[in-house]
Amino acid sequence: MQWLATLSLGHQSADYVAKTSNAKTPDGVVHMANLAVKISSLLEAVARDLSLERKTSLDNLVGAALSEYLLSSPRRMYQISTSTALVEGVYSGSLSSRTLLKEGDFGLGTFDGLDGEMIILDGEIYQASGNVRQRSDEFLVPFASVTHFREDAVFQIDKVECLKDIELACDPHRISENLFYAIRVDGVFEAVHARAVHPLPQGSRLLDAAKTQLEFHFHNVEGTLVCLWSPRYSSSFSVPGYHFHFISNDRRKGGHVLNCTAQHLHARVQVVSQYDVRLPESGSFLTTNFDEDPASDLAKAE
Ligand SMILES: [Zn+2]
Repeated sequence: MQWLATLSLGHQSADYVAKTSNAKTPDGVVHMANLAVKISSLLEAVARDLSLERKTSLDNLVGAALSEYLLSSPRRMYQISTSTALVEGVYSGSLSSRTLLKEGDFGLGTFDGLDGEMIILDGEIYQASGNVRQRSDEFLVPFASVTHFREDAVFQIDKVECLKDIELACDPHRISENLFYAIRVDGVFEAVHARAVHPLPQGSRLLDAAKTQLEFHFHNVEGTLVCLWSPRYSSSFSVPGYHFHFISNDRRKGGHVLNCTAQHLHARVQVVSQYDVRLPESGSFLTTNFDEDPASDLAKAE
């Protein structure tokens, strides 16, 4: 049973909002509207608590949340650093985890010093490095790509005997080889073979990290594959092709996926046509030589 509450917005003077909002019409005036919507009483309670906590009105709070949802582009991927930098051993954190989560709720990455695989799912960051832990603290991220996940296509994958079967099932849902894609696959997996990199001295190349990775086998586990697909031409920036990380529903198992078997998986694909790359402005990123093409090292390490 879902209890509904009615939330009425729009009690503020247009004058006040005109000073604080940037959603102005061409004539420079913000026109206010009243909106009455039914939401769950749980959501209403959260909104009222948060408005008290932040000392802001319900109008401001819900307006900000709505504009973030409605005006953010569902086609945009946001990334910190590049795959070339990772390959060359530049993996000290440079972007706040809070900033990363503002830019997306779904994606992949790694941690400072290459301390595990990063999984960003439903707006939470998880660190898989043998065990899995949720990271709700603020920390610096060396490399990650995120998007606000909203699917363009939904389909079933019936029989998966190896990871390649998932790739083959996703292939027809990618409308071009020249765009990026975010892919979410949910279901019960008979087996998942995963790995996690673990820390090496700063400056060690990615290939050396791949040699000392930890490997895991999970059986009969319900969970989610978080996948990004990047075009071949993006190999200096991203990991070309499919890149899968796994996390179980109980959030206790996870890692970079090497193989899996499953039946009846539920898949969703999002097209990504905006690629927003932010580069670290300090540290070894500024002085390391990135002339070499990382593609062959990436293929071996990832
Ligand atoms: Zn990975």
